Order: sequence, then structure tokens, then C-alpha cells
Amino acid sequence: MIAPAFMGQFSQAVTPGKLRDAFKRTGFSGMIEVALFADILTLKEAFEFDRHILTEKDFLLTSCCCPLWIALIRKLYSQLVPHIPPSVSPMVACGRGIKTLCPSAVTVFIGPCMAKKAEAREADIAGAVDHVLTFEEAQALFDAMHIKPERCDDDLRDHSSAAGRIYARVGGVSRAVQATLNRVRPDRRIPLRAVQADGMRECKAVLNDVLSGTITANFLEGMGCPGGCVGGPRRILSVEDGTRYADDYGARAVSGTPIDNPYVIELLQRFGFDTVESLIDGENMFTRRFS
Ligand code: SF4
Repeated sequence: MIAPAFMGQFSQAVTPGKLRDAFKRTGFSGMIEVALFADILTLKEAFEFDRHILTEKDFLLTSCCCPLWIALIRKLYSQLVPHIPPSVSPMVACGRGIKTLCPSAVTVFIGPCMAKKAEAREADIAGAVDHVLTFEEAQALFDAMHIKPERCDDDLRDHSSAAGRIYARVGGVSRAVQATLNRVRPDRRIPLRAVQADGMRECKAVLNDVLSGTITANFLEGMGCPGGCVGGPRRILSVEDGTRYADDYGARAVSGTPIDNPYVIELLQRFGFDTVESLIDGENMFTRRFS
């Protein structure tokens, strides 16, 4: 399970298909882009927004993809917890999805994040992700096995939409949910007004603004690292280059949003969701209740 921030991390010449083949040469059965599950959660977040934002005073605190942001709210701003959408992270969604389709699978998340190692062990979501590696650790694995990803075969599976791909950079979640909401609820009376914070200092500042009532946004996106996941502590590229690669990869997606992505619709049907709206019905594999 490769994090959305992977583009360019293993050199410019390493395409998603070459990276998949490189991982297979190390012994993995396959490589799935977590961006595909970020797509599904984007769809869920759009419907959560539509359900919860009914007055000008309502707001949501996203993104569920960043454990530092979620931990900050739970520890220091607990009165705001009810505003977190009840969703697992794309990493956990991906792990659960794989294990639903292939119960004996061992799942390994690979990304730029150290906090994901702790998230995978949190009691209420444990079991979805068996191991977490960083990009640096994956590169060390390639080096130790004398595998050059740029020389591998191009084993391409192009499944994610632009929405899921840009989760890698700050502002990506907001743009993804905005575009998806525009597709599924074009006539909404109250539009999505997003504000982003990246880095813990900015995240705290935005949450303080919420408490003091000085913020007019109704969709607040927090990412613990400066720049978002492309600025994660175990990235290989600079934040600027990582952002550029993420944006470029998003621009090359065949589908713009998850509602236009046939792989999302097919996967949801395989998971037992009859309609996309049923993503927010009751408890399901993508639900997480925060306290
Ligand atoms: S922003 Fe940083 S802490 Fe948050 S998920 Fe991304 S890499 Fe991890």
C-alpha cells in the first residue's frame, strides 16, 4: 500500500508501474495506491459535508488521513471532536479493503510518515495494517537487494482519480472534496468554504481561531507536516518537488473525481455498497468514531 506522496520519491524515472514491479521483485504480491482509497473517502467526506453542514455555523474538521492532526484535536481541543467526520484514514481503508477481498493478505503501508506506525496500532483500528515502512526504509530495501526501480518493467494499473492523488499535498483534501461535492451536490445552498493549515503551529492557530469564533470557513483541513505528506519526516524529495510531482500526477489522472472513477464504483459494489450514498449509512468498514 503506497502512500499518495510516492510520486518522484524514488527518482523521476520511476513510474508507478516500475515501482510496482520493483516491490514485486522484493517479494511483495502487488502494490496498491492508497490514493484509490483516498478517492473512496473523498466521496464519503463529500456526503458527510452534505449531511452535517446545514447552517452557516456548522463546520467539519478534516483530514482523517493525518494522525497528528486528529491526535491534536483529541488531546488539546476535545470539545471540537464532534466536528471530525467519522471516517478511517485512507491507509486503514486500504488495509481493510485488501483484507476484505483477500483475508490472508499481509498488508504493508509505505509512506513518508512516522506517525502512521503508531496509527496502525491504535486499538479501535488495529488489524487493518500489519506493518508500516517509510520511503527511506523501502529505498534501503531496494539497495540491499540491488534492485533499481528505474530499470524495472512498467507494471501499470491506473486506478486512482485526481482527487485521491492530490491528498499528498496540503490543500489536496479540500480541493478533492470540493470538486466531488460539486459533482454530487451541485445545487447545495451552503457552499464548501475551505481553509488549510500545515505544520503543527498552523494547525493549533486554526483550531484556536475556531474556538474564538473568528473563522468563517466550514471545512478545515489540517496536516501535521509543513506542505502536507510531501513534507513528511521520512520523505526523500524536497517539499517543493514532492508537491510538483503530486500535482502533475493528479493532472494526468483519467478521472477527475471518485464519482467519475469506474474503479471506485466497482470496488464499492464488491464491498457491498449498493449506492455511493450508502457510504454514510450506519457503521461500515470506512467508519471510525472519535472520542
Ligand atoms: S501530514 Fe505528516 S504526520 Fe500527517 S499523515 Fe502526512 S506525513 Fe503523516
